[in-house]
Amino acid sequence: MQTAANLMPIPGHVDPVPVPRAMPVREDGKIDLVGLTREQIKAALEAGGLEPKQAKLRAKQLWHWIYHRGATDFTTMTDIAKVQHPWLAERFVVARPEVVTAQVSTDGTRKWLLRSPDGHDFEMVFIPDADRGTLCVSSQVGCTLNCRFCFTGTMRLVRNLTPGEIVGQVMLARDALGEWPSQPEGRMLTNIVMMGMGEPLYNFDAVRDALKIVMDGDGLGLSRRRITLSTSGVVPMIARAGEEIGVNLAVSLHAVTKEVRDEIVPLNRKYGIDELLAACAAYPGANNARRITFEYVMLKDKNDSAEDAHELVRLLRHYKLPAKVNLIPFNPWPGADYECSTPERIRAFSNIVFEAGISAPVRTPRGRDIMAACGQLKSAAEKKSRAELDRLADEKQAALG
Ligand code: SAH
Ligand code: SF4
Repeated sequence: MQTAANLMPIPGHVDPVPVPRAMPVREDGKIDLVGLTREQIKAALEAGGLEPKQAKLRAKQLWHWIYHRGATDFTTMTDIAKVQHPWLAERFVVARPEVVTAQVSTDGTRKWLLRSPDGHDFEMVFIPDADRGTLCVSSQVGCTLNCRFCFTGTMRLVRNLTPGEIVGQVMLARDALGEWPSQPEGRMLTNIVMMGMGEPLYNFDAVRDALKIVMDGDGLGLSRRRITLSTSGVVPMIARAGEEIGVNLAVSLHAVTKEVRDEIVPLNRKYGIDELLAACAAYPGANNARRITFEYVMLKDKNDSAEDAHELVRLLRHYKLPAKVNLIPFNPWPGADYECSTPERIRAFSNIVFEAGISAPVRTPRGRDIMAACGQLKSAAEKKSRAELDRLADEKQAALG
């Protein structure tokens, strides 16, 4: 039966094709070097009048200062001739996203609300643990995919972040943690997850270019094994993500039947569970040493039965997936339609998957008190009043009939 709900169009471009991007120009007319490839830096220097050979050398030096040393001021770049400092400063900047607010949770999790030069807000979160520190990076302002349990999906304003804004989050975290120059050992920031706001595979080029910079050996130098990209299931882009980025893959599965996944992850109406799992099975580089993570948000009486757990095991076996399952207790937000499963249900679900030989840890929510946990990110400017949320809930109810 066709209902208004299953006719709902999925917004956003579904099969993004690479398009040439203009270099972002700031209001002051200067070019921000953060986020540009070495080639782009060289081209920008040549456009300013440097000879190709000099531009190549300067680009290499600038790269090292920007990404290895964390320098933002040209006058500190001692191997670049002093006379060239004002020339650089007239044309270029090495910027950071503007910090609107920075909060610290009682559990040590930190959240930053950031603002782009054109006034868009996005968030990043740092999660310290005993043996690692994970930066949760945003790929978009908001998200077009409207998963029913995710606060970010309720943001109206959506824009792709640029490579500079994505790398800029990592740079800013390094500033805040005092981790310059880049060290191979003993860092606090050891891991990156593309699990902040947005669907990274709907902003493929920028995410790829940004992560290439993050992985560059003469710079931030994070290994691809310490980076994870999470997608809600943009099937046509999964193979390219493996080939062109090559980081660990996480997939937001969340349900094992078409009916439930269609409801909670609307993208499922476009790319179903079987298609998605087949794409995962073909993910380049996935093997028993590098498993694919399947995220599963625990929603009370929605996707948390023993039957669901058995079906999950069956699906993962059927597709011969080198898999681990992350069980995420639902993090509540104002106006959400769901509740978190009981601890007993979550434990029982985890045991069933675990007994089938698949690791299924239950994630401890981090930073809930500052709304920094999974799915709670939504910039302050976008937060709606209680009355407005009620009105929207009524509208949604009416639309669903
Ligand atoms: N858009 C990407 C990455 C960002 S979301 C994706 O969906 O995979 C990061 C993870 O948090 C996803 O698995 C997402 O489904 C989950 N999540 C979203 N809202 C949540 C909530 N309220 N409670 C717990 N997890 C949530
Ligand atoms: Fe977007 Fe991921 Fe939230 Fe879904 S869960 S709305 S894909 S950010």
